[in-house]
Amino acid sequence: MVSHRHPNSLEEALETLKNEPCHIVGGGSDLWVKNRSWANTPPAFKKTLLYLAHLESLKGIRKTDDSLIIGAMTPYETILNHPETPALLKACLYELASPAIRHVATLAGNIANASPAADAVLVLIALDATLEIQNHAFKRTVKVKDLIEGPGKTSLESRDLITSIRIPRRTFTHQTYKKVGGRKADAISKVAFAGGAVIKDGTVKHLSLALGAVNATVVRDEGVEKPYINQPLSKLKSEKEAFKKALSSSINPIDDQRSNALYRKKVALNMINRFIESL
Ligand SMILES: Cc1cc2nc3c(=O)[nH]c(=O)nc-3n(C[C@H](O)[C@H](O)[C@H](O)COP(=O)(O)OP(=O)(O)OC[C@H]3O[C@@H](n4cnc5c(N)ncnc54)[C@H](O)[C@@H]3O)c2cc1C
Repeated sequence: MVSHRHPNSLEEALETLKNEPCHIVGGGSDLWVKNRSWANTPPAFKKTLLYLAHLESLKGIRKTDDSLIIGAMTPYETILNHPETPALLKACLYELASPAIRHVATLAGNIANASPAADAVLVLIALDATLEIQNHAFKRTVKVKDLIEGPGKTSLESRDLITSIRIPRRTFTHQTYKKVGGRKADAISKVAFAGGAVIKDGTVKHLSLALGAVNATVVRDEGVEKPYINQPLSKLKSEKEAFKKALSSSINPIDDQRSNALYRKKVALNMINRFIESL
């Protein structure tokens, strides 16, 4: 038998998480697949299912002076249709899964599932997004990049709930999202890239480049980007090969049923190359 809870408030949800081990249910699109059982029997959940998608306090999108705050239970479809959603995130969500999945699935689920090929995670890291995490005792704020520790592994504890995602509002002068998969959408990425830059009067004001499915976690190295910030764009262009070489040591993909390491690495470096050339 599968047990489940439908709390009436966020406080009740946090109290439930404190008292019993639960699977938090976002859209269920990863959870159901991971816990499937065969021969048409119901999924084999070992923990109580905690349904939260009905809680309005965890849904919706609001704007502050410097950020966009997305409630953890807001489905992709709503995010995709919102006028304030950053174009880079829209480009990603448009190719993520299918309309049916996007009707229910969430950013919080993509993050907590921590797949190395999670497409939205890649873009959120390129956008410097942070998460608000709550449990019955306290709240904390964590960068998306710092939460994910490895394939399927995060620093979330069993009592923790991601309540919202905060994306700094920034207007890129150049941005690109590219997903390489077996087909345009509804396919797991072989490799994916998100790049954003702010170039003003020939100077690099901001640079963020992130690669997915080429290591155990998303590859973004701010140490490689930093020497080019507030520097002439010509420096980045002339040192493009050195830039790629510096990132190259973090690009360590695997061979699997979708692709192989050689192809993934080559494509990843080509995407960085093309992005720098486009600036
Ligand atoms: C057909 C199909 C196609 C897909 N295509 C893609 C694709 O192209 N790209 C891609 O990246 N993914 C894809 N996915 C995977 C999946 O849809 C996404 O990862 C999605 O974002 C998961 O969100 P969800 O809300 O459904 O998560 P759920 O399945 O509800 O949850 C996933 C995990 O996150 C935890 N969780 C959920 N919400 C919270 C929260 N608020 N706080 C803490 N933990 C939480 C759950 O307990 C669970 O462990 C696909 C899946 C399917 C079935």
